[in-house]
Amino acid sequence: MTTRLVYSDFTDSMLAPPLGVPIEVMPGIVWIRLALPFALNHVNIYLIDDGEGWAVLDTGLGDQETQDVWKTLLADHIDRPLTRLIVTHFHPDHIGMAGWLAAQFDLPVHMSETEYLLSRNIHLDPGALDAEHYRRFYLRHGLDAETTQRVVTQGHAYLRFVTGLPPTFERLVDGDRLTLGGRDFQVITGGGHSPEQVVLYCAAERIFFSADQVLSKISPNVSVTATIPNGNPLNDYLRSLAALGEIIPADALVLPGHGLPFHNAPSRIKELTAHHQARCDQILAACVTEPRSVAELVPLLFHRPLDPQQTSFAFSEILAHVNLMLRKGQIETADTAPGLVRYVPRAVPENRV
Ligand SMILES: [Zn+2]
Repeated sequence: MTTRLVYSDFTDSMLAPPLGVPIEVMPGIVWIRLALPFALNHVNIYLIDDGEGWAVLDTGLGDQETQDVWKTLLADHIDRPLTRLIVTHFHPDHIGMAGWLAAQFDLPVHMSETEYLLSRNIHLDPGALDAEHYRRFYLRHGLDAETTQRVVTQGHAYLRFVTGLPPTFERLVDGDRLTLGGRDFQVITGGGHSPEQVVLYCAAERIFFSADQVLSKISPNVSVTATIPNGNPLNDYLRSLAALGEIIPADALVLPGHGLPFHNAPSRIKELTAHHQARCDQILAACVTEPRSVAELVPLLFHRPLDPQQTSFAFSEILAHVNLMLRKGQIETADTAPGLVRYVPRAVPENRV
């Protein structure tokens, strides 16, 4: 690194550093914020000392701006060769530049199998994103035809900001050890935000690369998708949070996929868990007054105007809570209109009252 800021003394109230500037957060670990053209305006990537060079953890969005920043980083800042790519999950802000970087430097890509296959699938079959089953999915849950059209054509556009993946990869499996430089990391995978997201924990130095599974300020999006309309990703997410709560101690430095590094993962995990419980309570309360579709619940739970991408996130996030509550027997479907699903609190049989 020819120029860098050094945060030798971490506090949880530090200000966000400028975009595209490498920050050494501890010896051999470099944090870089890359811009995103979305409401969430940046993603964090990391360089991790890997002996002869740097391993790259996540890559930024696969767009021209990010590629230009990478070119500057490689020309002016990164002083040793890249050794490999580690990609936490298939979302384009994390995986976007992986194909380009891997091809440039002939780098191996380390990923979980589900995330690799999902990304390959989207890249090879991008037309599937505006296919008929997506329209049916939104319409059935009450989104009007015009909004459905906008969500299907614009809301998924970000999924195309990728540069592909090489045809082979190094598979990361939950419970594996990954040695980078002198550090030994535990590979942990968790579902909910994406199906098999990889996070890394170095117990010796209390370093936790949390990807999007545990973020300091925002609650990671947990969505039901049209491909698995009856899926229960919120259950996967809460299960993953509970597991991480047992592993990550309060004094570990959490290096997340968005936002600032922070400490005290266990308390943040409790907040995230409570947030989802509160959302379930809100949905239940809304369905007590009258049967509600997922689309009808969106403005009751999200009070700000939403663009097509945010509408698709909000819609699918509410459905994640609904599917969990259906599984738990807290709500059930109500027959109020043909072709439309609405929900009401589950009637308790009289002999159980
Ligand atoms: Zn992300």
